[in-house]
Amino acid sequence: MTVRTYVRLISGGLCLVAAVAIALMDFFSGFEQRAPRPMPQESSQGLPSAPHSDETTPDDEVCTNEDGEPCPVDETLQVMRGDTLSTVLERAKIDSGQAHDVIEALKSVFNPRDLRPDHEIYITYIPVKGAPLERDLISLYIRPSLETEITVERQENGRYKATQETKELTHTTEVVKGEIHDSLYLDAGKQGVPAKILHEMIKAFSYDVDFQRSFHPGDGYGLIYDTYRDPESLKEVPGELAFAYLRLKDKELRLYYFKPKKGNPGFYDINGASVRKGLLRTPVDGARLSSGFGMRRHPVLGFSKMHKGVDFAAPKGTPIMAAGDGVVEKMGPFSTYGNYIRLRHNSEISTAYAHMSRFAAGLRVGKSVRQGQVIGYIGMTGRTTGPHLHYELLKHGKQVDPKHIKTMPAGKLMGADLSAFKNLVAGLNQKFESYVPPVTEISAEDEVVSEEGEESIDPRTLEAEQDMPTPAPDGSVSAPGAPAPAPA
Ligand SMILES: [Zn+2]
Repeated sequence: MTVRTYVRLISGGLCLVAAVAIALMDFFSGFEQRAPRPMPQESSQGLPSAPHSDETTPDDEVCTNEDGEPCPVDETLQVMRGDTLSTVLERAKIDSGQAHDVIEALKSVFNPRDLRPDHEIYITYIPVKGAPLERDLISLYIRPSLETEITVERQENGRYKATQETKELTHTTEVVKGEIHDSLYLDAGKQGVPAKILHEMIKAFSYDVDFQRSFHPGDGYGLIYDTYRDPESLKEVPGELAFAYLRLKDKELRLYYFKPKKGNPGFYDINGASVRKGLLRTPVDGARLSSGFGMRRHPVLGFSKMHKGVDFAAPKGTPIMAAGDGVVEKMGPFSTYGNYIRLRHNSEISTAYAHMSRFAAGLRVGKSVRQGQVIGYIGMTGRTTGPHLHYELLKHGKQVDPKHIKTMPAGKLMGADLSAFKNLVAGLNQKFESYVPPVTEISAEDEVVSEEGEESIDPRTLEAEQDMPTPAPDGSVSAPGAPAPAPA
């Protein structure tokens, strides 16, 4: 409870961005630690297995069978970033000839280039008698996904052969409901919502919700998503996010994942309007709005000037995303804008991105981009005092305040798609409304006394503070929404 109260005080305080970063780190590290260790497979020779060990000390665990021959040993191998299967086997002291043969056999069912650090992999070998550092490889097991198991085994003729098995996974639909006290990442993470699902949720809502400013302690969230579980190891993989819910101070939002007969699958609001047609509110991941649209004192020129865009401050090299699907209309150095890209989204609307350090590889005039695709990186080319994105929304070629154009004409479901969607909505709503979350923690309404005897702060009292001007990392204070001082 103390830790929880402490974290709540920090994130409920002033630096939301840092809180999200901390939450993310906590969440991911927690996730890695929770993953159970893979279990070694039984020895393929039917002989008793030697105790499994990660340490490469064959001398102190010599096991022999009735004939005095060494027993097979199972060993779990760790795949590190940058590894190939050969480097992994080399570390495990497998002779390069055997390693080569095993990899060749494996290629019939699995591309060794697809090896990733999260892959479960182990080997069975026999220590060579009299040569404790030599190992005779009998079999290799690799599990590239929860449902796929591959075993490469040495045959009677001495050659290796790979076999692939598909596991039957149990499918469940998870419903999660909760309140935001620390951050969406932390609170939903505590309820076991996988990171992939949370990313999908945030992406789906990022058209309507400004994730840096919209939340207040006590706001509600909800999700319905699929998971697939291996009944033996109880390991799970997340499937699709089907439904996402947010209850903010002033509004309630529901999004539904739907695959129309025609068009792209994606999230739709309760009326069947696609969220993807809107423009991203923040075309930079993790950026801070540093200067709004309107009159301001120009940081370089020193006199008041109309600011015809929105500035997002972020470190140099931060990816900049296309605010919507479109075509690259202009790209290159452009006057005081520095490295500049303009995207045309439809006959009316374009967006422009300035001061980039560099453009995304492969991008050029005339190419199509998808919403959220990285088009370049934050920099400080052109007339600027610090790394930021200068972002403009243009209507018929004239800069307008992005606040006034919330979305482009939305793609709406019609006819048979719409009726199918309405059925889906009714089913998901019913499932969500009828779900009662298990009681796990003391509710935030109760007066909680921490171990030190200090009273915790009621999250509702933090709401007032949230609406106060927010100090920027450089110490300057700006009211949310109002034009803020330009970046230093
Ligand atoms: Zn600007």
